[in-house]
Amino acid sequence: MSELMKYALVTGGSGGIGGAICKQLATDGFRVLVHYNSNQEEALKVVTHITEAGGFAETIQFDVTRLEEVQQVLKSWREQHDETSYIAVLVNNAGISKDTLMVWMEPADWHSVINTNLNSFYYVTSVLLKDMIIKKWGRIINVVSLSGIKGLPGQTNYSAAKAGVIGATKALAQEVGKKKVTVNAVAPGYIKTEMVKNLDESQLKNLIPVNRFGKPEEVAATVGFLASEGAAYITGEVININGGLYT
Ligand code: NDP
Repeated sequence: MSELMKYALVTGGSGGIGGAICKQLATDGFRVLVHYNSNQEEALKVVTHITEAGGFAETIQFDVTRLEEVQQVLKSWREQHDETSYIAVLVNNAGISKDTLMVWMEPADWHSVINTNLNSFYYVTSVLLKDMIIKKWGRIINVVSLSGIKGLPGQTNYSAAKAGVIGATKALAQEVGKKKVTVNAVAPGYIKTEMVKNLDESQLKNLIPVNRFGKPEEVAATVGFLASEGAAYITGEVININGGLYT
């Protein structure tokens, strides 16, 4: 097993939380595939950061909502690498929100959020799972949300998508545990990234026992732990990273 080259694919590596996860996994010794959809510039910045620190990283591009595109890109990656290399860690992190009250929600708001956050889980994971099973070592880590546990008003689409991924996490964990593939989720609260740029931290922090928004690195640290050998006996779990915000 030690001669295998383990790659980690982080979807949405061009985003705030994804970028921090890429850097953490590179520090932990994985060869990192920094995924992006539209923001190649940010993905390249993450690659540069990792390579300058002595790690290995390269970009990979696909739209997580397009099944055929996902399959084509990942199959072509597989064909370009021999059997000593495989994607051993998958972090399903790419996501969007389109917040609006249910009475105003357009079909497009519903479908785009379900496609990007939930269907993408199936599209990407189903391609990479077989290799993890064959190699008898894998880590699947899904970035969900407080919203998928508690439900948040204005986010029926997003809460449904994230709750769906939590259900899938628990089910898949039971399917593949015997093959030394673990499947877990992390559920961030408010983390300072583009996604929450329109929220007022000075007001919302009063609801949070730690009294501030979280940093992407504070999500990445837990993802790094779940990807490690030390977390081999943790599967089907959802770990909250929310500064103590009651769920
Ligand atoms: P960002 O907006 O910073 O990043 C979102 C990432 O998702 C980008 O890399 C973007 O790629 C990618 N993405 C969006 N749509 C697609 C698509 N169709 N195909 C491929 N990639 C896509 O957000 P965060 O870093 O904050 O969010 C990361 C994850 O964390 C999400 O799943 C989010 O739901 C979750 N989360 C965030 C919280 C927060 O407070 N920030 C709280 C709880 C959960 P590109 O820009 O290249 O197009």
